[in-house]
Amino acid sequence: MDTKSKKLFEEARRYIPGGVNSPVRAFGAVGRTPRFIASAYGDKIVDVDGNEMIDYVCSWGPGILGHANPRVVEKVREACTYGLTFGAPTAREVELAKLIEKMVPSIEVSRLVSSGTEAVMSALRVARGYTKRDKILKFIGCYHGHSDGLLVKAGSGALTASIPDSAGVPLDYTKNTLTASYNDKDSVERFFLKYPKEIAAVIVEPVAANMGVVLPQDGFLSFLREITTRYGALLIFDEVITGFRLATGGAQEYFQVTPDLTTLGKIVGGGMPVGAYGGRRDIMEFAAPVGPVYQAGTLSGNPVSTAAGIETLRILMEDPGIYGRLERKAKKIAQAVRNAAGDSVCVNQIGSLLSVFFTAREVTDYESAVSSDTGRFAQYFGYLLDHGIYTAPSQFEAMFVSDAHTQEDIEETCLVLEGYFRR
Ligand SMILES: *Cc1c(COP(=O)(O)O)cnc(C)c1O
Repeated sequence: MDTKSKKLFEEARRYIPGGVNSPVRAFGAVGRTPRFIASAYGDKIVDVDGNEMIDYVCSWGPGILGHANPRVVEKVREACTYGLTFGAPTAREVELAKLIEKMVPSIEVSRLVSSGTEAVMSALRVARGYTKRDKILKFIGCYHGHSDGLLVKAGSGALTASIPDSAGVPLDYTKNTLTASYNDKDSVERFFLKYPKEIAAVIVEPVAANMGVVLPQDGFLSFLREITTRYGALLIFDEVITGFRLATGGAQEYFQVTPDLTTLGKIVGGGMPVGAYGGRRDIMEFAAPVGPVYQAGTLSGNPVSTAAGIETLRILMEDPGIYGRLERKAKKIAQAVRNAAGDSVCVNQIGSLLSVFFTAREVTDYESAVSSDTGRFAQYFGYLLDHGIYTAPSQFEAMFVSDAHTQEDIEETCLVLEGYFRR
């Protein structure tokens, strides 16, 4: 059933570290070998052995319209015929920046980069340049890409600097990163009391989706808005996942909280490598060439990538009913699991994002998320995979619902889930 995938994985491991170009693809956490994908269309993904699966990974977020949306593919095809990259400005970059300005409430000015990692890295540099402060406060369990200063685990004492969470990151690179607990206002307040004039920015996933899906509790985001303003720090929403997913204006529209800077990725590229950061004009103009903060990119604003991004955002703008449809589908899956599994799991869902945590606790932060039984998760993942449902091979990732998921496939998914939990 997965002979070709297994063979390819064996070969891949000879030429690529661990056989994959991004670690979570390796299926290591679930004790399986990864499926090598041959094609994808709509809500289906097909591996090299010909297994067709209903896909809830959606490339880890970009696929809000499903795979190979015909309008997006056509724009990409057309863009290719005019040349793949110029390293000079194009009209499409202006168009994408205008769309972003129109859709995302807090963004007046934005800059395109090629990944979410790069977007966050650059936004932090601008925040530090603007505030002339060095420290950054982040939350345990939130992921902001793999740049050195953000690969941290919490310090040993509550108010110490963070320590690296990866080999190859010098201690010096993380000494200005502070880590607080998600949904814990006191843990944030304590850092501001200790460093009232040193914190350049608080960066947060407004809905955490990289420790599984964890919702912000009532008032948490507005508290972050208030305390950053009070201490002269910037508030950065990392909307690489939530941007254009929770609403056309992302989480900031959904929760009506306005950050100073926003980072985007995933959906903004419509399946091509694009990231963006943006916000208030006076802050963004600290970026070169007008400002003193250097940031650049050979392929930034690439003409083919921007074609995919523009068409994707246009489709979302033209059809705001999409967000209601996505939510109804995700709710249906969440309800099916809750009904079948009862209190043995915690299902968190918002908009088209959901996670099934194998814990009886309510999951509100990293600590409760990691109380999950990853062994039970691995078994659940394997059952789903064997029954044609493709989900992320880790307890600590989201399930993504797309506009291409058909009612029929949602129902099929619910049946498989019920089958698993009622065995
Ligand atoms: C995926 C992700 C990133 C990193 O984006 P890449 O394109 O993988 O570099 C940053 N922040 C969040 C919230 C993400 O989900």
